[in-house]
Amino acid sequence: MSSVRPYRDIYRRESRKIHVGNVPVGGGAPISVQSMTNTLTPDVEATMEQIRGLEDAGADIVRVSCPDEDSTAALKDIVAQSNVPIVADIHFHYKRAIEAAEAGAACLRINPGNIGNAQRVKDVVQAAKDHGCAMRIGVNAGSLEKDLLEKYGEPCPEAMVESALDHARILEDNDFYEFKISVKASDVFLAVAAYQGLAEACDYPLHLGITEAGGFQSGTIKSSIGMGMLLWSGIGDTIRVSLSADPVKEIGVGFDILKSLNLRHRGVNIISCPSCSRQGFEVIKTVETLEKRLEHISTPMTLSVIGCVVNGPGEAMMTDVGFTGGGSGKNTGMVYVSGLADHKIDNDGMVDHLVELVEKKAAEIEVERAKEAAALEDQAAENRVSAAE
Ligand code: SF4
Repeated sequence: MSSVRPYRDIYRRESRKIHVGNVPVGGGAPISVQSMTNTLTPDVEATMEQIRGLEDAGADIVRVSCPDEDSTAALKDIVAQSNVPIVADIHFHYKRAIEAAEAGAACLRINPGNIGNAQRVKDVVQAAKDHGCAMRIGVNAGSLEKDLLEKYGEPCPEAMVESALDHARILEDNDFYEFKISVKASDVFLAVAAYQGLAEACDYPLHLGITEAGGFQSGTIKSSIGMGMLLWSGIGDTIRVSLSADPVKEIGVGFDILKSLNLRHRGVNIISCPSCSRQGFEVIKTVETLEKRLEHISTPMTLSVIGCVVNGPGEAMMTDVGFTGGGSGKNTGMVYVSGLADHKIDNDGMVDHLVELVEKKAAEIEVERAKEAAALEDQAAENRVSAAE
């Protein structure tokens, strides 16, 4: 069936579905958003505080590094207290991987080619199988194997794909397929080409990331270009935005990238103009305040906040709630609900009024979603009954 707006269609690459705890990754599952804690893992209290912040921001999966035995010992408590699946980040030490699987990690981030001999790989795979733990092969341009660097001369897409497939083969040889792969680089060109090559070469789910992308602004831009290009072409099953910033910000940026591509929605998508001398109210200040005041809303919805009638009515047509400035004076700004002009208000108290309207609309949308979910459940139950008859 052709879609109403074909220029917006994204055809996702068909990938194998795995599970990281209760979160499906690949096989058409919603693209999950993840981040990583930067507290000392043995400090369970501090780590949990950060994980709670990430959960509140909407993180689907959280990674925790396990460099030593104290960390894997703490992991058990962390897993028990977390509401999201925990990925244990392991480098080289196969014993830490086994301990993490035993502690309840939902996934091990480990490269099987880096943990020593075949027996160690076998032991790690067995622990993963015993504890229902997935894995992520994480190839990084900065730490490619020596033989591949010698073969290719420098980190390049071909070397990264070869490294990833070498690690994958080790797991396949151990009859283990519950894994996803990343081929990260800080260079956007290199990362994109490596992911494109890997997407062609296998059907494993892909974890996207532009690694060591930099601070909040430059990292957001690099990640948006690299991951945006891949996601737009249908590549990518789970994402992590790497920023030298508060991990909670990584989640916000991740969702904003997915929102921009219509791949996933969470919270209020605010459409606002940059403002100019025509603005009927202070657009920038208002949007900053609204962003903060609407952080608690997780319902996917849109709000347009436009300075004047040049673009206001047109933008509002496509939104759940809209506001268009109309100049100074009483009752000059127009409020739109579900795309239609609804009533006029003046600028005083406008923020409180819009927050109230958005909260009301969010509650209505949630009621509708619950009804739809119940109808689908009823239909599924009916189908089960007819199939049994
Ligand atoms: S919508 Fe109006 S206020 Fe906003 S930038 Fe355009 S002309 Fe200026």
